[in-house]
Amino acid sequence: MTDLLIKNGRVLDPSRNLDGVMDIAITEGEITEVAPGIDPASAGRVIDATGLLVTPGLIDLHTHVAAGLRRAGAEDMMGDADTAGVHSGVTTVLDAGSTGAFNIGGFVNFIVPYARTRTLALLNVGTLGVTRAPEVRDAADINIDAGIDALNYRPDVIVGVKVRMVSPAISTLGIELPRAAKKIADGADSGAFVMVHVGDILGQDPVAAKLAPQLLSEVLTKGDVVTHSLSFQVGALLSGGKLLEEARAARERGVIFDVGVGRSNFSFESAKQVLDQGFVPDTISSDFTQMSRFAGPTHSMVECMSKMLALGIPLSDVIRMSTSRPAEVLGIDDETGTIEVGYDADITLLELVDGDFVFRDATGGSHRGSQAFRPVSTVRAGEVMPIDFGPRPWGWLPERAPDRA
Ligand SMILES: [Zn+2]
Repeated sequence: MTDLLIKNGRVLDPSRNLDGVMDIAITEGEITEVAPGIDPASAGRVIDATGLLVTPGLIDLHTHVAAGLRRAGAEDMMGDADTAGVHSGVTTVLDAGSTGAFNIGGFVNFIVPYARTRTLALLNVGTLGVTRAPEVRDAADINIDAGIDALNYRPDVIVGVKVRMVSPAISTLGIELPRAAKKIADGADSGAFVMVHVGDILGQDPVAAKLAPQLLSEVLTKGDVVTHSLSFQVGALLSGGKLLEEARAARERGVIFDVGVGRSNFSFESAKQVLDQGFVPDTISSDFTQMSRFAGPTHSMVECMSKMLALGIPLSDVIRMSTSRPAEVLGIDDETGTIEVGYDADITLLELVDGDFVFRDATGGSHRGSQAFRPVSTVRAGEVMPIDFGPRPWGWLPERAPDRA
């Protein structure tokens, strides 16, 4: 007996070279069969996915979902895990340093257990995380031993350390700032990685540009992640429009490059400059916050994927960068991120909608695209989750482009 059968969708899983109309059978939260023409008579529930893309459950490697752990009110930037997650077509979210050593217990005990979305976290190098920004002003805001204790407390949830190369810490601490994050990660009992935010969004301090090559060549090692790889901000990967050589060298050593679209870290101009130099990031992520969901220019993970599609990244690569690749980064690629018998039944149903769309960036720039993803249904460990109406007054799809004059 099969609990759930997803029938007649276009199953697209680049990690398994799957692309074709197939059915997926699910029982007790696991994938039990992937094949064309599975008999629906044996299934407790059947979803007709005709005309839809059926992909591994989307994984958003950069979100802020510590809702309620910062003071309530207009300035609360923290989003909700399931709003960023299962209600947006995403089965796994990584909270990227919303909390630090002194408050991550709140995240682990009061957010993770109640989320339907698989929710993992990075510990911020600053003891209070971005519940108070700037999270690091000087060395007094960092506690190495408390950080190591936090990682060892719940290594199944807290998988690494987040550090932002932003003012004022980059001028007070310099390269010691990311080194402190590395010290915490290396001090943990089980392999933790460091995620570094590049681009000084808080100060545009030229010191950020001086530190970037050193960060890439001397601090980061295999498995560490650079987020905001397509950023236009000072201290990101571009210098005078040219990609830092140190970025290529770091990638060759196994450093991962993430998009992290976000509210203030992405422009189509800088993205094209990076991509045109043959540097396509490894993973797509949203840097989801409550503010970005309502005010843009980044409303959701699927919108970020649509932007990458509009920039010319092929569909199969966009799916890989949002599923199996981030699963590998998180070390959960033996459970999720692929459509394979025995894996958790984490699956996303998407409609790929044709249209004349306009996408917006953080600098007021825009870019037209002819396709966009609309989430239709999320299956998380075999449970079917509803999709929210969408982050915009008119739903999920981007704005329609104005008629050409
Ligand atoms: Zn962020």
